[in-house]
Amino acid sequence: MPPPFVIPIFIAHQGCPHQCLFCNQRSITGAPEGMVTAREVEETIRTQLAWPRRHLAAPVQVAFYGGSFTGLAMERQRELLGAAQPFLASGQVRELRLSTRPDYVTPEIAHFLREQGVGIVELGAQSLDDRVLAASGRGHTAAQVRAAVACLKEAGIQVGLQLMLGLPGDSTATTLASGCQATGLGPDLVRLYPCLVISGSPLAEIYRQGGYQPLALSRAVALAGRLWRIFKAHRIPVVRMGLQPSLSLEKTVLAGPYHPAFGELVLSRLFFNQVRAALSARPPQQPYRLCLARADESIYRGRGNANVKRLAALGLLDGVETVFSASQPRQTVVLTPSAL
Ligand code: SF4
Repeated sequence: MPPPFVIPIFIAHQGCPHQCLFCNQRSITGAPEGMVTAREVEETIRTQLAWPRRHLAAPVQVAFYGGSFTGLAMERQRELLGAAQPFLASGQVRELRLSTRPDYVTPEIAHFLREQGVGIVELGAQSLDDRVLAASGRGHTAAQVRAAVACLKEAGIQVGLQLMLGLPGDSTATTLASGCQATGLGPDLVRLYPCLVISGSPLAEIYRQGGYQPLALSRAVALAGRLWRIFKAHRIPVVRMGLQPSLSLEKTVLAGPYHPAFGELVLSRLFFNQVRAALSARPPQQPYRLCLARADESIYRGRGNANVKRLAALGLLDGVETVFSASQPRQTVVLTPSAL
């Protein structure tokens, strides 16, 4: 099954009366001001359905991102979800997805969403440590995250968990513990975001006054890699690492581990370690063939060929022929002796 074709609809800050320390939602989503109308939702869906698609068989999803959808008035939720109903009924759209806060999910809400064709809800959990949640001004607890996941699963809705790294009050230990606890909730997918200092957010002022130190990029990459491995071990897909790059985001990041290809940096680091371990374990003085998936070539090489240069500097590529194969599964390393 090809990956879904997602039609995104941003509802920035609508429905969210909170102010998490790190959030300036408009900067993060790049969404325009103003209320999205039902007619705009319909037009967006119709327009994007007409776009050429790489995989025609890809299931189509309409995603309401940004803000906290289930914090909107019921009438407004019905209006927005209702705009997508004709496309669900005609089969042009497979399902709806949205993001919200854990404390805005009840059994009634979950069943209402399921009836409206919502198949996936992404919860902004951010952490499962109550002290970190409080220090970040989230206004909900880890217990509320667990309760929301249970409600959604009971209603037959898939659950995505969004987790952040480097929040106020966070440490390597609390981040990894949150990751381990998150696996126990059995999410269907996870997104990992490093905490950034965004202009206009309360955290920006705290940072200016010296009260918050963001993660360095290298540390955030290493930490995200450790979380990725935790989720991989539990077969939970990490569908995104790092915020979607946008001009408005780049203009407003004051500090923190921002990189437009953050996820690729993480995967590249993980793959470097995997290849290095395989090459280090081979018996010396024999030529080898290192076979990797063609789709992994860029994460193998790293930015500016950095990984290859490091492997070469370690002497690990001596006598090694590297080949890229279209048929090899991604993120696998096959090392075989080759003829002398
Ligand atoms: S709940 Fe979400 S939208 Fe609301 S302030 Fe926090 S991060 Fe921003």
